[in-house]
Amino acid sequence: MQRLIVATRNANKVREIRALLEGLPLEVTSLLELPPSPPVEEDQPTYAGNAMKKAAAVRAAAGTAGAIVIADDSGLEVEALGGLPGVHAARFAGPAADDTANNRLLLEKMSGLSPEKRAAEFRCAVAILFPDGRTELVEESCSGKIAELLQGRRGFGYDPLFIYEPAGLTFAEMGAEAKNRVSHRGKALRRVRLLIAGWLEG
Ligand code: IMP
Repeated sequence: MQRLIVATRNANKVREIRALLEGLPLEVTSLLELPPSPPVEEDQPTYAGNAMKKAAAVRAAAGTAGAIVIADDSGLEVEALGGLPGVHAARFAGPAADDTANNRLLLEKMSGLSPEKRAAEFRCAVAILFPDGRTELVEESCSGKIAELLQGRRGFGYDPLFIYEPAGLTFAEMGAEAKNRVSHRGKALRRVRLLIAGWLEG
């Protein structure tokens, strides 16, 4: 079976990606199952640049020959904050920030803003490196609003603060399946799935 490596250590992302590639004849692994390697600094100014950098680092590592490598880079952009947290959303509240600290800082920076001023967009880029050298890049986004308090216990990252308006719920309230149908990563991975299925068929 064709091996596919997901260039991430984020177990939540791996879960979402596995679900969206299910049914393809792939043996999916991630960096969580590979020998430890130095973390890749996500220092590029764009999601696409960071996704390519993460994928290329895995491609260059020992033991990855013959595998398809995919890497995701994502972030949250809030209009009223001039696009912050943005491409460095994981480090919004500092280099060692966790989801709780990032969410707290986001709420703090947006306190007092009316619902009309709380527009936000999740963005996602996925790089695919095929073993024959072909490279693809897919980008998608999802629009929503930032809630005034954390709502919901499912999901990860900024999910408890991201209201998907057609549902009137946050991603953390919607749960994985409903989120994947509309999210930035879900939309990108459905296109990734088609590209990989096409490549597998030759
Ligand atoms: P990175 O792509 O791993 O650099 O993550 C960027 C930041 O955006 C992290 O803080 C993630 O938790 C957050 N993020 C990315 N995708 C999602 C999502 O689907 N839901 C909630 N937060 C996300």
